[in-house]
Parts: sequence; C-alpha cells; structure tokens
Amino acid sequence: MNKLTVRDVALRGRKVFCRVDFNVPLSGGRVADDTRIRASIPTISYLTGQGARVVLASHLGRPKGQPRPEFRLDPVAEPLRKLLQRPVRKVDDCVGPAVRRAVDELGDGDVLLLENLRFHHGEEKNDPRFAEELASGAEVFVNDAFGAAHRAHASTEGITHYLPAVAGFLMERELEALGKALEAPERPFGAIIGGAKVSDKIQVLDNLISKVDVLLIGGGMANTFLRARGLGTGDSLVEEDKVPLAGELLRRSADRGITLLLPVDLVAATALDPKAQRQVVSAEAIPPGWRALDIGPRTREQFAEAIAGLKTALWNGPMGVFEVEPFAAGTRAVAQALAASGAMTVVGGGDSVAAVEEAGLAGRMGHISTGGGASLEFLEGKTLPGVAALLDRGATLPPALTKGE
Ligand code: ADP
Ligand code: MG
Repeated sequence: MNKLTVRDVALRGRKVFCRVDFNVPLSGGRVADDTRIRASIPTISYLTGQGARVVLASHLGRPKGQPRPEFRLDPVAEPLRKLLQRPVRKVDDCVGPAVRRAVDELGDGDVLLLENLRFHHGEEKNDPRFAEELASGAEVFVNDAFGAAHRAHASTEGITHYLPAVAGFLMERELEALGKALEAPERPFGAIIGGAKVSDKIQVLDNLISKVDVLLIGGGMANTFLRARGLGTGDSLVEEDKVPLAGELLRRSADRGITLLLPVDLVAATALDPKAQRQVVSAEAIPPGWRALDIGPRTREQFAEAIAGLKTALWNGPMGVFEVEPFAAGTRAVAQALAASGAMTVVGGGDSVAAVEEAGLAGRMGHISTGGGASLEFLEGKTLPGVAALLDRGATLPPALTKGE
C-alpha cells in the first residue's frame, strides 16, 4: 500500500479527526452487529495509546441531511466504551460551537464521538464549507472507513483539502488484502462470482477476466451465461439483454485460456418459496415452469474441487438464494471449500460476507472485507476517491506531525 498511515505520524497531543465506519445495523435502539465497531478498534486504540486527542466521526443509515433520532450514534457509544475500555464522550452534532468546545476540552488519549455526519446535507454533497468545518478543530485526518471510501463525501474526500490525510489500520488491511489478490496473487488465482444479476457484476467480471486463472460463476447470473451457451433456462431469472455480453465474456475467457466453470446442475423450484416443489435438474435441461435457485450437488463438488487447487481465491456473490434455507447449500459449500483450502481467501460483498458469517466460517477466511460497495468498486478496478485523497508514501508532513528518528 503506497499511502501514509497512522504509524507515520507523531500523534502525542495532536487533535485527530478519525473517519470510521460505524454504519452498523440497529435493532430496538441497540447495535445488532458490532463487527464494524470491532474492526475500528485497532486504529482507535493505537491513536489513544499514542496520546492523540481522538475525534471519531461516522455516518449511519440514510437520514438524508436531517437530524433523525433513529439514526443517532448514541447506541454506538456504549459498545465502543466497552471495546476500548475507556470513557467516550458523545456530542449531539458533528459541527458547531458545542463540538468545538468538546474538542478543545479533550486531553491526551481522550475520545470524542460526533453525531451522524449525514444529519447535514454537506456531507454527501461534499460541500467544501462543510468539509472545512469538520476539519476546523483538528490537525490531522485519519481515514479508517474503508466501507465509505468509494464515496467522495465531505468526511472522506473534502476534508483532505484542509488536513494532512493518512490511512488507519483497517483501511490499510483492506487495501493490502484486496490489492494483493488483484495485483500480485499467488497462482493459481481463482474468483468465485455469484449474486442475482450479471448487470450488477459486469465490471467485476470484466476486470477479473484479465487477472484470474480460474473463474467459477454461480447464482442467478449463471443463468444468463447458460443462455449464452445456447441452453434453455426454464423460468429462471435471466437478463435477456445481457446474453450477448455474457457470450462475449465467455469468448474472452476462452481466448485467455481461463478455466471457466458454469453450473452443470441446479436446484430448481416452481417458485421462490421454501414450500414450493423442487428438484435437482441438469443445466442442460431446466424444464419450463421451473426456476434455478441454487447450484446443484455435482456443481458443488466441481466448484469445491476447483477451489481446493487455488493459492488465491476471491469470492463475491452467493451461489443461490441463500436467504431461503432450501437454496442455501451451494453458498455454504463454497464457504466450506474456501475455509478448507490452503488458499489466501478474500471475501467481499455484503451478502457473501453475511453468508460466511452465518456459516460460522468467518474466522477461517484470510480476509473478510468490511466494505460492501467499496470492495465491489475495488474489484471493478476503480480508484476509490477516499483512498486517492490520502497522502502517498514519501509525502512530507507538517513539522508538528513529523516523527523524530
Ligand atoms: P454481494 O452482496 O455479496 O455482492 P449480491 O448482492 O450481488 O451479492 O447478490 C446477492 C443476492 O443474489 C442474494 O439476495 C441472493 O438471493 C441473490 N441470488 C443468488 N442466486 C440467485 C438465483 N439463482 N436467483 C435469484 N436470486 C439469486
Ligand atoms: Mg448484496
């Protein structure tokens, strides 16, 4: 990773504006899943341990520029205090005189949590005046919110015009894991791509086809590829207008000599319903009136065997409608094959990560990305604006932030 990080900055006594991703699911006013809070702890603990004065900022949900009580960050403060094992002061806005006072009152190693950034329109609009206000009390900007790095917002991009900007540890870990898989993978390198629609993943496939040795395609999008191979797909989800594109991707992968596997059999049902009639069908013959909702047992075996031979494996997109138990086996089989493989495994995408966690296999993956949309854009080969805005390695920091030898 060619960006400066918190390690490169002299932090004692410095006021640090730290963008984190506390966009956590809430239920009944409590944090339902604290994964993202946990993921930010290494950076926050490092900052406090170095004696920085830490100001934490995040968005939560989509309050659309209005203060909405159900999107307040108060529920985050309590688990944060427990995980950090230190007091965390919470204020009710992210800009303004009360925030300025609270920042000025911070001692070395203290932590202040600001209110939801998206209570102000300026955040998503990347309004320079709002960005300048966010920056105004601080001396350095730390971005640890990989999950928000694909958005050029005031707290991810705008603020870097007013403060020297460096990466936190989570940001660094995400960029290194995803970056290494894409740019310097140990080979054979394989990708397992699924999900509902080809149209969601066109750019991911386009980018990966020039990099991988093995490509496994499952999920709803496999149907469009089966159609491109001239097969009937019954009543399965197919994007008719994407059939030529799927054909083009098949040709390109053949030209590159990639091993490309499509499902050879499928779990089909008469409706997307756990109680609907279902059967395993050959991919060559999905009968009319039936729709493919998961990969079948032979495909599970073939995919598992292909995964076992990989040194680097990247997974995005479930193999079936895994939210509905009778159609979850394919996705679970891929998660298990990845866990059992000796490969460096990287999982990105909100639903794929949820599936791995549900299977209880999260601890056995090499890297699980905390950023759904951000990891997808990374896999598409796009430059993330929140990353591009960070100082490159070798850049000069202001004297007050420069570490002594
Ligand atoms: P991720 O969030 O990991 O990037 P996607 O959002 O692209 O994954 O895809 C997940 C969705 O794809 C799930 O909601 C799942 O139900 C759906 N899906 C997978 N296979 C099928 C299928 N055969 N038919 C319809 N939907 C499917
Ligand atoms: Mg998704």
